[in-house]
Amino acid sequence: MAHDAPQATGPSKLVIRNIGLLLSGAMEKPILDADTVVAENGKITAIGRAKDVNTEGATTIVDALGTTVAPGLIDSHVHPVAGDWTPRQSQVNWIDSYLHGGVTTMISAGEVHMPGRPRDVVGLKAMAIFAQRAFWTLRPGGVKIHAGAPVIECEMVEDDFKELAAAGVKLLGEVGLGGVKDGPTARKMVGWARKYGIQSTIHTGGPSIPGSGLIDKDVVLEADTDVVGHINGGHTALPDDQIRCICEGCKRGLELVHNGNERSALYTLRTAREMGDLSRIILGTDAPAGSGVQPLGILRMISLLSSLGDVPAEIAFCFATGNTARMRTLDCGLIEIGRSADFVIMDKAQHSPGKNILDSVQLGDLPGVGMTIIDGIVRTQRSRNTPPAGKVPEIVGR
Ligand SMILES: [Zn+2]
Repeated sequence: MAHDAPQATGPSKLVIRNIGLLLSGAMEKPILDADTVVAENGKITAIGRAKDVNTEGATTIVDALGTTVAPGLIDSHVHPVAGDWTPRQSQVNWIDSYLHGGVTTMISAGEVHMPGRPRDVVGLKAMAIFAQRAFWTLRPGGVKIHAGAPVIECEMVEDDFKELAAAGVKLLGEVGLGGVKDGPTARKMVGWARKYGIQSTIHTGGPSIPGSGLIDKDVVLEADTDVVGHINGGHTALPDDQIRCICEGCKRGLELVHNGNERSALYTLRTAREMGDLSRIILGTDAPAGSGVQPLGILRMISLLSSLGDVPAEIAFCFATGNTARMRTLDCGLIEIGRSADFVIMDKAQHSPGKNILDSVQLGDLPGVGMTIIDGIVRTQRSRNTPPAGKVPEIVGR
């Protein structure tokens, strides 16, 4: 598989027609009444019934054959290093494998598995700037990887954050993975980051691997990062009463990860629902990690939360699309005019007992991915990783 993202070579117009079910990614209206989506030059330009939208001049026509179109999935928590390689599990092509699981955008929570990762201030800044540049230049399979997430150390001063922001760094790695593990220092640095437009997240719970440490509710609430990273632990979760304190004690994002405690994820989900705060729920895998790499991790989280957490499947898809896009101000994640034309086309997996794709997910099955599209360009067809979709879309014209 070529690692360079295919680029459109001229004006492009994508038409996806015969959509059986269109998931919007937006919790307030998760299902759209439309069977056709049009994208020009990588952006969505029309959503509606075939007779009402202008499909003339298409450069690519996809016949969805009655299957389901959703925004491409967003993994809010990954640990990339360089290229499509992870030294943590000595694997290559893991990002391409995620694309086959419907993931079109990834957000780095720190490039922490870099062998010999620098921990001095000049070195960690250089590493972050390198990662931001490298992953924007090389997009495996076309996947958008927002990387360059420095792991903060106690010696940093405000000017370091200003310099990082000026250099294009927009994220902090998980607070707590470096030397900063106390609330007051974390709060001060998260504030500096925010002042310069850098988003923040924190490692919540017990140590993930030897060398990381415990971050409890007091540190999480004092640090006040934009996202409460893996509130269900990575893997060791905080006790339920502390999870509830965090949910109630702030309005920040509540991130649930695959490489965490699944019972605690369900506890967080129920707590957020009681509070009427499901829009705060976002999903990640926290891979590569000790638990490995999960190409289907985001689909598995959607299915887990829907089936065991009694959440309609169309809402669970919003956790991995629109909620994350809004919280992290991404231009993808929603089927809306002007948004990036990033889609995953799915169908009920063959032999799932569900009546339809949503029912099958609510029964705990995974959907079959039939196609991924990024920036209006078809990237993959029938997934090599999901259970086979009943029907897969076809490219019927170019
Ligand atoms: Zn972590």
